[in-house]
Amino acid sequence: MKPMIIAVDGPAGSGKSSVCRGTAHSLGWRYLDTGAMYRAMTWAVLEAGIDPSNANEVANFCTQPKILSGFDPQMPTIVVDGIDVSKAIRLEKVTSAVSAVSAISDVRTLLVLMQRQEAQQALSDGTGIVVEGRDITTVVLPDAEVKIFLTARPEIRALRRAKEEAGSASATVKDIQATREALQRRDHLDSTRKASPLTQSKEAFEIDTSDMTLDEVIAEVVVRAEAAQ
Ligand code: C5P
Repeated sequence: MKPMIIAVDGPAGSGKSSVCRGTAHSLGWRYLDTGAMYRAMTWAVLEAGIDPSNANEVANFCTQPKILSGFDPQMPTIVVDGIDVSKAIRLEKVTSAVSAVSAISDVRTLLVLMQRQEAQQALSDGTGIVVEGRDITTVVLPDAEVKIFLTARPEIRALRRAKEEAGSASATVKDIQATREALQRRDHLDSTRKASPLTQSKEAFEIDTSDMTLDEVIAEVVVRAEAAQ
C-alpha cells in the first residue's frame, strides 16, 4: 500500500492505542502516540519539581527535556533525556497532571512541531505512519489521507480503562466507577481548554467501537486506508 498518514483522535478509553498499534502493525507502518509525548513532558515537569499548574514555569522549562519516541507498534517506547519512561508515564501522578501541562500553548507548539516532523520523516523514509491523539485530525495533520474519530459509550470506556489498570486482577465495580469519574474529569479538561481542545473534525470518519471487536475496528481503518489509495 502507498505510504500515507492515518490520523486518529478520540477520548481516553475509546480504543485508540490498541486500534492504532494494531493498524500500524498490520500495515508494517510506524506508530506515534502523541499522548505519550504529553505524558513524557509532564513526567519531566514533575521530576524537575515544577508545579504543573504554573503555566509560566512550565512554558520556560518545556524546551529543556529531550523527548524521543519509538515507532514500533509492537513495543512503543518513550525516552526523556536518555531515561526510558514508557512505564513511568502511566503512573497516576502523571495521568492526573497531564491535562494541565497539555493545556499550555508553548508545550503544544513544541510538541506539535515534533509530531509533524515525525510524520514527514516517515513519508520521506518511504513508510506510512499511524498517529493518535486529541488534535491530530484537526490541528497537527489536517491533511492526513485518512482521518478517524473513535468513540465509545462512557461505561465501555471506563470498563476498558479499569481493566487495563487492574492488570491481571479483575476490576471491581468501585474501580470502574472511580475510573469513569476520572475519565470524565480528563475529557472535560481536554475538551474545554483554550489551546486545541479535543473536537471532532467534520472530515473525520467516526467509528463507535463500543460493540466492535478490536479486529473489526482495525479492519475498518485498513479499509479506509485502502480506499484512500
Ligand atoms: O492518550 P492519552 O490518554 O495517553 O493522553 C494523555 C493526555 O495528553 C490527554 O488527556 C490530553 O490531555 C493530552 N493530549 C493532548 N493532545 C494530544 C494527545 C494527548 O492534549 N494530541
